[in-house]
Amino acid sequence: MSYIIEGETGDWEIVVGLEVHAQILSESKLFSGSETSFGAEPNTHVSLVDAAMPGMLPVINKYCVEQSVRTGLGLNAKINLTSVFDRKNYFYADLPQGYQISQLYHPIVGEGTVILDLEDGTTREVGVERLHMEQDAGKSMHDQDPKRSFIDLNRSGTGLMEIVSRPDLRSPEDVGAYLRKLRSIVRYLGTCDGNMDEGSMRCDVNVSVRRVGEAKLRNRAEVKNVNSVRFAMQAVEIEARRQIDVYEDGGEVVQETRLFDSVIGETRSMRSKEYAHDYRYFPDPDLLPLELTQEYVDNIKATIPELPDARKDRYMDNFGLSSYDAGVLVAECDTAQYYEKLAKGHDPKLAANWVISNLFAVLKEKSVGIAESPVSAESLSKLLDLLKDDTISSRIAKDVFEIMVNEGKEADVIVEEKGLKQITDSEAIEAAIDEVISKSPEQVLQYKSGNEKIAGWFVGQVMKATQGKANPPLVNQMLRDKLK
Ligand code: MN
Repeated sequence: MSYIIEGETGDWEIVVGLEVHAQILSESKLFSGSETSFGAEPNTHVSLVDAAMPGMLPVINKYCVEQSVRTGLGLNAKINLTSVFDRKNYFYADLPQGYQISQLYHPIVGEGTVILDLEDGTTREVGVERLHMEQDAGKSMHDQDPKRSFIDLNRSGTGLMEIVSRPDLRSPEDVGAYLRKLRSIVRYLGTCDGNMDEGSMRCDVNVSVRRVGEAKLRNRAEVKNVNSVRFAMQAVEIEARRQIDVYEDGGEVVQETRLFDSVIGETRSMRSKEYAHDYRYFPDPDLLPLELTQEYVDNIKATIPELPDARKDRYMDNFGLSSYDAGVLVAECDTAQYYEKLAKGHDPKLAANWVISNLFAVLKEKSVGIAESPVSAESLSKLLDLLKDDTISSRIAKDVFEIMVNEGKEADVIVEEKGLKQITDSEAIEAAIDEVISKSPEQVLQYKSGNEKIAGWFVGQVMKATQGKANPPLVNQMLRDKLK
């Protein structure tokens, strides 16, 4: 599916590539032993290396290397057995070294792929160009004092994986699907927590537009440091429309860095190419090239868990779920685990419906994740047991679920207390049917004159008369016999 923007002078296509900075999940930093935890008192997790004291020497964190290789494997990417750390030189207050240690010419991970799960249930492949390791910078704090800015170096030196995509994304929806998928993969792998609101995943969005059918890429603008999926999608939409307006007014889009203001909903020029940095990259003389063996990579490969794509295929093949439902259930590892507990011993499609429709509605209302669900997989499983053995009808099950959510009681206790057991006793149902029929001569006539649809109305009346407790298939069958 392509996303085309209709302009005054013809149709335009959006071209987007993303650079995602993902903080490596590791207890200590990329080249020092200090802690990486989020939210600590400013400047309490800073070693001599992180503060760039004269004479300090970086020592590579083995675990961060492992995590980067693991992520590369999760992206079906080529792992480069030799990679090299380079210095990227620039001056900024939150960068005490005066350079960032990064990997420009020889990244640890080469080309890979990410599969997008789109809204309409289809999938599309997006190329990953590379993944390299680099240091994060500290943080400037401008809101602590009216006149001065402060620096917090807690984040300084934390390991990042910069994941660069090919310009294969064509719409805001693609961008959303890509970021969600990437987040899902790193969370499954345990290599990044993916918390965009804590800044552990941020992205730079490269946007350009071109005429539909045009092969060459036009100048792009880079929108820096976008920190939510929604903002990234908005930034693409807004920036693409701005560029189209520029071209349609006869102008040229300049290659530049822009900032996205989510409050006003616009992008603003930050610096143009004229002032572009010359980073004067060169290999870091303090660090040897990083040499890995194939055996080392293979050992890590053996620890890779089942990832969302494989899990989705399994749900479709084994459980007969639709591509959309399977995609929703595997997106978060916690959700998938919850679902699998529920699907065990129950109709997998029914279990999927309960999670996606009923449970998700509750979680959304309470704004909690599935880990904090008021109803555990075990409890919901017991509710489905009562449905399965016909103790309750599916209508009553929804009521019981609501009580479970609000009162935290188990399904069987609620059914017992409120007398919600389904009536499967045919005599009781027959009595209810007889009463409805005797009260509704007009509808009986309609049915007999060929209006089959009115049978549904009769079923509804009987269900009402039994407070929803009659077994619907039984009611249906008996009604049709009676009305004959
Ligand atoms: Mn970077």
